[in-house]
Amino acid sequence: METISKNAINHGNVVDLTHEGHGVIKIDRYPIFVPNALIGEEIEYKIIKVKKNFAIGKLLQVVKPSEHRVEPPCKYYWKCGGCQLQHMTYEAQLAMKQSQVINLFHRKAQFTDTTIHKTVGMDNPWHYRNKSQLPIGTDKNGQAVMGYYRQRSHDIIDMDSCLIQDGIHQDIMNHVKQWIKEYHISIYNERTKSGLLRHLVIRTGYYTDEMMVIFVTNGKHFRDASILVEKLKQTFPNITSIKQNINNSHSNVIMGQQSITLYGKDKIVDQLSDTTFKISDQSFYQINSSQTEKLYQKAIEYAQLTGEETVLDTYCGIGTIGLYMAPVAKHVYGVEVVPSAIKDAQQNATLNGFENTTFVCGKAEEVIIKWKQQGIRPDVVMVDPPRKGCDETFLQTLLKLNPKRIVYISCNPSTQQRDAQILDTQYELKEITPVDMFPQTTHVETVALFERK
Ligand code: SAH
Repeated sequence: METISKNAINHGNVVDLTHEGHGVIKIDRYPIFVPNALIGEEIEYKIIKVKKNFAIGKLLQVVKPSEHRVEPPCKYYWKCGGCQLQHMTYEAQLAMKQSQVINLFHRKAQFTDTTIHKTVGMDNPWHYRNKSQLPIGTDKNGQAVMGYYRQRSHDIIDMDSCLIQDGIHQDIMNHVKQWIKEYHISIYNERTKSGLLRHLVIRTGYYTDEMMVIFVTNGKHFRDASILVEKLKQTFPNITSIKQNINNSHSNVIMGQQSITLYGKDKIVDQLSDTTFKISDQSFYQINSSQTEKLYQKAIEYAQLTGEETVLDTYCGIGTIGLYMAPVAKHVYGVEVVPSAIKDAQQNATLNGFENTTFVCGKAEEVIIKWKQQGIRPDVVMVDPPRKGCDETFLQTLLKLNPKRIVYISCNPSTQQRDAQILDTQYELKEITPVDMFPQTTHVETVALFERK
């Protein structure tokens, strides 16, 4: 007999997966969430927490495994907070992401006529991250450690490899860790807020060989900078830029506002299709370049541009989407809140020889009102907000601007679904394509097409 009480050991069949990739077992419709269990599996589990509306179980044994269960290839997988889906075949990961979008839009909201396509995946879903942000700390013996945080904690797992980073990043990480030990370089302590080195950030161009290494420091004085710079230059001659970023804050924000170039160029260059992008250390840039191309291709397809359209690129970052569209649009207006990113966007427009773009720094919800007052009448609006989605005033102004089409890219389908309900008064949500920007993790990215009713 199955019981719902703490420490009870039960058998059950997994009938669903949550958006966090946890298996769902039901006892008389009451759900028990079991991390690491897969849909279709028969398992033995122990109940470790009981709440009013759900319980949490711990997987003890897989009695009958799913055909989609695989051995996670990474040796840190069971402790690291970076990946959540390595115990699942890639095919199952893609299916799970599509189901999540279907759940949100077809079941929880009334978008039953919207076509939700299969998730666009990668041929090789490993080593895709062009940016690594590695916390640096010390173990209990005072030795330098570097890697990613343990699940739900700020303990750093000392790693020598990571299967989702660009391969060169792990070589750099391992060398830098060695030099920190060898030259006794001061390391930041999150608890006492003292010490110097906080993070190592590495960025690589996907279609160029450019590489940027950033040392994030607590304070400006960086006595051993020259040692690290010399060592890096000797060992990795391909590095095009070495920077120091100063972060004196006591928060979890990784980078501070001020950066200093220690060696080489102050920006990194990458290329997507025929467009070249210069990227500052503090600007947002999509971390999976080959999937970004697929995402933007889909966005262009949805925008259906003929060369005659006025396009708004809202939440534009360094202007990647707008610049991608500039050759097939009449004029592109971009807005972004981070000043260095908008500077990058302006320079990137010049770099690519576009004269039909205007990039403005500010909050999308405020700038869009000004554009409306200036009489700008967009035909197509691209929307690509952060996880929290769009501000309501932004959406209300968008409705007043009344473009023919809205193409909404989202890294959080649940806020996208909330926003879609506001647009629904005037727009039909035609289709959504999930694109897998973050294989092995539960993150889902989508691109949605809204057409004026
Ligand atoms: N479209 C870009 C960036 C998307 S990420 C790309 O594909 O690369 C979301 C961007 O929104 C970030 O650059 C972030 O700085 C910016 N942002 C966040 N809040 C904003 C706001 N209220 N107004 C304008 N931009 C904002």
